[in-house]
Amino acid sequence: MPDCIFCRIVKKEIPAKVVYEDESSVAFLDINPRSTGMTIVASKKHFSNFDEDSETATKIFQSAQAVAKAIKSALNPLAIEFGVIPSKEVPHFHIRIYPVYENEIPLLENQPKKVSEQELEKIAAEIRSATPTAPAKEEVIVEQVEEPKRTEEDIAWIKRQLGLE
Ligand SMILES: [Zn+2]
Repeated sequence: MPDCIFCRIVKKEIPAKVVYEDESSVAFLDINPRSTGMTIVASKKHFSNFDEDSETATKIFQSAQAVAKAIKSALNPLAIEFGVIPSKEVPHFHIRIYPVYENEIPLLENQPKKVSEQELEKIAAEIRSATPTAPAKEEVIVEQVEEPKRTEEDIAWIKRQLGLE
């Protein structure tokens, strides 16, 4: 979609304060945040609704959680709210992350905060430093659990329980 603003951010045609990126998603700060560190997690692929590509949508939800955890540890909000609101202006699948603070409740009817470029960069750097650099790959850690060794006594007991002896 040549005119889609999120596609252009994904392709780095429009600069954005990217805080996280992996093969399916890009997360960047909203330049008109309703609270400090408000972040948009967009899919790299252009589609608008979750059910057009559930598999990718799932990955975006996973990325959003990773980014939310980073925001939590970097900015220490009281809570994190998520918004998945299809938008007519930007018909490109994305999840909004709204950090909530005691004096910053990110209500939709609130006016966006005025944040300078410098402040945005500082916030982005803080979130980036708390974000895992390597995307979560399908890593399967198989723990070797040794079977407890059974003594002859144990075996005899088991056999008795099973009525074998
Ligand atoms: Zn797009």
